[in-house]
Amino acid sequence: MAIMTKGKLIYEGKAKKVYETDDNELVIVSYKDDATAFDGLKKGTIAGKGVINNKMSNILMTHLEKCGIPTHFVEELSDRDTLVKRVKIVPLEVIVRNVSAGSFSKKYGVPEGIPFEEPTIEFSYKNDELHDPLLNEYHAIALKLAEKDEIETIKEYSFKINAELKKLWKTHGITLVDFKLEFGRLPDGKIVLADEISPDTCRLWDSKTSKKLDKDRFRRDLGGVEDAYIEIMKRLCE
Ligand code: UDP
Repeated sequence: MAIMTKGKLIYEGKAKKVYETDDNELVIVSYKDDATAFDGLKKGTIAGKGVINNKMSNILMTHLEKCGIPTHFVEELSDRDTLVKRVKIVPLEVIVRNVSAGSFSKKYGVPEGIPFEEPTIEFSYKNDELHDPLLNEYHAIALKLAEKDEIETIKEYSFKINAELKKLWKTHGITLVDFKLEFGRLPDGKIVLADEISPDTCRLWDSKTSKKLDKDRFRRDLGGVEDAYIEIMKRLCE
């Protein structure tokens, strides 16, 4: 592969920057240490997070590719930078849950940590102005956010991703509680997994102690944020 260098900055989000490359079909994602929570109301930095999220997301996407899930991942370029396929993001956040936590517990008035017999899936409309409202698949189709067959593909991939990641984390003594996914369309319309899979986007608990090894330590001021990111990465590499 030709040496890929960063061109024009095309997008800067809360945790990542995206740069053009010489190849119109590829972009470079650069992971930052910045962290936000509660719709951007809480801001901070988690030292070293960008390096961990970059490497973890790449390990997990490589694993998922082997399991038959198409992803945007192409090649890790450095500690913080990864070459990915350029996609048009489907403006849906897909959340899969195995155990009650977070907004699920709050909304339905159940304690955190209750395992489900079957995983759940929910969608929200990726729209900052509207604060990412929850919607169902009929709403998504009505709003032309995705076609019916694309939603079927997204659901199928999401449950498969859950099954594979749950299994993988279990071998490292970690419970995959819940996570958020984003998908994109390649120029030919094919749906691929995009964005990131990291402690920023997953709830990951030690299976024995239930210690939280994810962004909830930052959201909830639990302390030991940096150490938790280091520990979860170490666990994945064990
Ligand atoms: N999540 C995310 N980005 C969001 C909202 C949620 O990555 O904008 C992840 C979050 O880290 C958790 C899962 O999706 O692993 C479910 O989050 P939940 O709906 O419980 O919301 P929260 O309690 O985090 O507000």
